[in-house]
Amino acid sequence: AADLAMFAAKADGRNTLHFFNKAMQNEVNQRSRVEAALRQAIDHDQLELHVQPLVDSQACVTGMEALLRWQHPELGRLSPADFIPLAESSDLIVLLGDWVLRQACRLLADWAGDPAMARLSLAVNISPRQFRHPDFVGRLRQSLQHSGADPTRLELEITESLLIDDIEQTIARMAQLQQLGLRFSLDDFGTGYASLGYLKRLPLNQLKIDQSFVQDLLTDPNDEAIVGAIIALGRSLDLRVIAEGVETAEQAERLRQLGCTAFQGYWFGKPASADHWRQWLAQSDGVARG
Ligand code: C2E
Ligand code: MG
Ligand code: MG
Ligand code: MG
Repeated sequence: AADLAMFAAKADGRNTLHFFNKAMQNEVNQRSRVEAALRQAIDHDQLELHVQPLVDSQACVTGMEALLRWQHPELGRLSPADFIPLAESSDLIVLLGDWVLRQACRLLADWAGDPAMARLSLAVNISPRQFRHPDFVGRLRQSLQHSGADPTRLELEITESLLIDDIEQTIARMAQLQQLGLRFSLDDFGTGYASLGYLKRLPLNQLKIDQSFVQDLLTDPNDEAIVGAIIALGRSLDLRVIAEGVETAEQAERLRQLGCTAFQGYWFGKPASADHWRQWLAQSDGVARG
């Protein structure tokens, strides 16, 4: 995974000059190798969607977030941080994203026949490049129709980076998708550069407080102030606010005191196969730890 991680870091723009000079041709070669491997991964069943629970104030599971995993034949299980940035630098993300959405729709359709799962929503991460692709709405509609999934159970997670340019087009496209019944969350909220003024114009349902603010919540008063401000903002704009990356009971408790009513994180449940969570939900009352 070291090769890939290094490559992903470079795709992110964090390359150093000295490395760049030396390895420019290498980079081009390696980039196309990783791209070819990713294309293969799609065709050869090496990709898998894990899911992680989202819970309400009673720790009752209300939905799942789909998180992509790549089971590489030699490198083992790779996390999206290792390959999504690379995929995002080309139209490969469109292929990958398409696969994810088809798979997610299939999962939702599957769950509809299972009493323990039928009420759950499924959130899918969407890259800006994927969202802006001219075929995005058409392909998504197709995936919904083919699978028979209920669009109102599908939630798209977008990030502030989508809101920096082409805002009118973004709003129009979001509205179009909302008409199909889909819902939107703003992921990693507070880490991007989008203007707050846009928030009131977007057909959003939810803000996801970035995990970096949750991490030091108990020790850093600045983080507590930011989390409090996001919760207040959500309340006044009538948006649900969910905290990401909740790892301890203490963090969950503090978030509750600050008025947070929805949570996601290792404390409540880790990302795992859809089958794992399906079995767990069938055998439990749907209440995760905490
Ligand atoms: P994200 O959408 O913000 O997802 C949350 C990330 O935090 C996931 O990392 C999840 O495993 C991790 N996480 C959840 N709870 C905790 C916790 O309590 N503590 C800590 N430390 N981490 C926690 P993951 O699965 O490695 O995904 C990383 C990012 O990759 C995602 O961040 C998302 O931006 C992107 N990603 C994942 N799957 C997809 C996909 O299908 N399409 C696209 N475009 N991006 C994806
Ligand atoms: Mg997400
Ligand atoms: Mg996030
Ligand atoms: Mg993220």
